[in-house]
Amino acid sequence: MTENHQARLLIIGPPGAGKGTQAARIVERYGVPWISTGDIFRANITAGTPLGQRVSALIETGKLVPDDLTNEIVADRLRRDDVAGGFLLDGYPRTVDQVHALDRVLEADARTLDAVVLLEVDTDVVVQRLLKRAEVEGRVDDTEDVIRHRQDVYAAQTAPLIDLFEARGILVTVDGLGSVDEVSERIATALDAKLEA
Ligand code: AMP
Repeated sequence: MTENHQARLLIIGPPGAGKGTQAARIVERYGVPWISTGDIFRANITAGTPLGQRVSALIETGKLVPDDLTNEIVADRLRRDDVAGGFLLDGYPRTVDQVHALDRVLEADARTLDAVVLLEVDTDVVVQRLLKRAEVEGRVDDTEDVIRHRQDVYAAQTAPLIDLFEARGILVTVDGLGSVDEVSERIATALDAKLEA
């Protein structure tokens, strides 16, 4: 696997599974742009843009931003030239509707997803991790109530996507428990195998 290999990737997993940390490793290894919808929203909130104003209350309370709005943002992002060699989507899609919207955007350019990394971590572990992150990063949506709500939203809206990607034969399930290096090694090994298959 060279760094320039075309790879259209997603990373999925419950809030607190370590997606952001592992996404950073993946984009470095595969040399693709990192597209995090959460980061896009947070940057807009910080900059006080109209989009930021529209989504800030939703994000603070752990609710999902409406599909239409989120789909439009990602569709625009995926039309940019820098994704010609692939990309890593982090935090999107999060609903079945978003999967279909993504499919349409990719199909328009005869593109498909190559692999979906599922970071599997026990709920109790992720809640503890998020409470710790609250102390370190001070994210507005890392309070205990909001954390629990985000886990419920994940279970109801996002977890069903796992079966869908499994049925497509592109799911790569990785145990997210362990050190950052251990987990990133596991991801690299499993992803390389899937991309070369
Ligand atoms: P994240 O950084 O991925 O945990 O996202 C933080 C918050 O941004 C989520 O709790 C949602 O409020 C919002 N968000 C991020 N990605 C999406 C998405 N694909 N669909 C809807 N809302 C999203």
